[in-house]
Amino acid sequence: LFVVFEGGDGVGKTTQLERLAEAMRSAGREVVVTREPGGTQLGLHLRQLIMHGDHVAPRAEALLYAADRAHHVESVVKPALARGAVVLQDRFIDSSIVYQGGARGLGNEVERISRWATDGLLPDLTVVLDMAPDTSRMDRHLDRVERETVEHAEQIRQGFLFLAQRDPRRYAVIDAARPVGEVFHDVFAAARAALRR
Ligand code: C5P
Ligand code: MG
Repeated sequence: LFVVFEGGDGVGKTTQLERLAEAMRSAGREVVVTREPGGTQLGLHLRQLIMHGDHVAPRAEALLYAADRAHHVESVVKPALARGAVVLQDRFIDSSIVYQGGARGLGNEVERISRWATDGLLPDLTVVLDMAPDTSRMDRHLDRVERETVEHAEQIRQGFLFLAQRDPRRYAVIDAARPVGEVFHDVFAAARAALRR
């Protein structure tokens, strides 16, 4: 089972992912928790280049994400799925479509590059944690520089919602502006339903 968590910054992806990992481990499953970018050694270098380097040209940035993804899928995700593990991943192709494709104006090419990079591997379930930008900003870590405007955050949000309604069977859109436990209740139900499919 391959479950991806998507959504804007600060919506609680990491928290929910860790809770789901804990629940699945208690149920006796092998769980691999990973993230993009940066789920491998190479990926950590790429993440460093993308996030802390000088300004990276948008197309170069999109390709760096794709390179990270290609390597990560091949060396972490596929082997884990092949041995029957549950893979819980923080961000995947949709983040690239929404951030590089939508917000940076690169359009559909980003989706094509990503599909090529992953050799067509898609999640069984993508959990979109949905929250209005203002709320998601309230308890943000102040050490993470927020360059993006609320408008940009809303554009990102709409991007994820669009992808979810385009392919509803593979997605669960969950209202993340609620207490962690309530959100998790829905996350768990969605994962269980995906396991049964
Ligand atoms: O993984 P993390 O949540 O720390 O990502 C932080 C930022 O990296 C996101 O807010 C987004 O700006 C950027 N990002 C991106 N494209 C991806 C993944 C992340 O632009 N595919
Ligand atoms: Mg996070």
